[in-house]
Amino acid sequence: MTVPTITLHDQTAIPQLGFGVFQVPPDQTAKTVLNAFEVGYRHIDTAQMYQNEAGVGEAIATSGIPREELYVTTKLNNGFHRPDDARRSLDESLSRLGLDRVDLFLIHWPLPTRYDGDFVSTWQTMAEFVEDGRATSVGVSNFEPSHLDRIISETSVVPVLNQVEVHPFFGNEDVRAACARHDIAVEAWAPIARGKVADDPTITGIADRLGRTPAQVALRWHVQRGDIVFPKTVTPERMRENFDIFDFKLSDDDMSTITALDRGEEGRGGPHPDTFDMIPD
Ligand code: NDP
Repeated sequence: MTVPTITLHDQTAIPQLGFGVFQVPPDQTAKTVLNAFEVGYRHIDTAQMYQNEAGVGEAIATSGIPREELYVTTKLNNGFHRPDDARRSLDESLSRLGLDRVDLFLIHWPLPTRYDGDFVSTWQTMAEFVEDGRATSVGVSNFEPSHLDRIISETSVVPVLNQVEVHPFFGNEDVRAACARHDIAVEAWAPIARGKVADDPTITGIADRLGRTPAQVALRWHVQRGDIVFPKTVTPERMRENFDIFDFKLSDDDMSTITALDRGEEGRGGPHPDTFDMIPD
């Protein structure tokens, strides 16, 4: 099974399906990522905040998969927005991952109520990492349209992508539209709404009719909308299930029916980026 790639505006290619490791316990991460590699995943999404970069690094080293076949993303932790902290923290990430560059480095959260509201100098610092080769591409996560407009107008550097919460119950359409305006790709986090798509009768109805699972239907919906996804699971069987989404297609009617499940703000499962201000210990 070949995973399609999306070409970002810096002309690099990212596999449209990856594997997320949020909440994978550090001591299980190496084994879990090795299982994901075995299934065929080559794109791994981790973060400094997840405290499992070392496990991802161990899996990469053990797997023997050539570096150029892998796509590795990590994210700047909330406590490291000051330029010198960001520079140091990327070095530490690279050392934990056992890599000399990541494919993608993201600002994890904009934290507009922290750092005197200055996420612009953090973004300016991220651009250095492309110049010095420690990151092939840089982007953002959880940026609202106003945050995107501000970093772009003040730095003229456009993130390659924005990783935000998107799933059938929370379409996040304003953010997706802002991204489209700026030629920024969208990565959808919590793509299967943390398993809740399986409780929805509309999605299970479509899944039953197509002989697919609810998770597969939801992931296929994202892929057909052009977004990038990386569902998380610790279960090898579910890894295979979530990977097996490229040999069927949802009709236009099924696509619209799923899109209509959007509950707007009520469907949001995570914190709002305008107010989220958590800095881990
Ligand atoms: P997901 O929507 O990927 O759901 C993960 C949950 O669904 C887990 O509890 C998993 O359980 C379960 N699950 C996985 N596959 C299936 C399946 N086929 N059928 C039923 N249940 C299933 O949520 P995540 O929050 O993990 O999001 C995915 C990734 O997005 C993260 O791992 C992370 O990389 C990224 N992310 C980024 C954020 C950000 O702020 N930038 C915030 C949150 C996530 P089990 O493991 O037991 O199988």
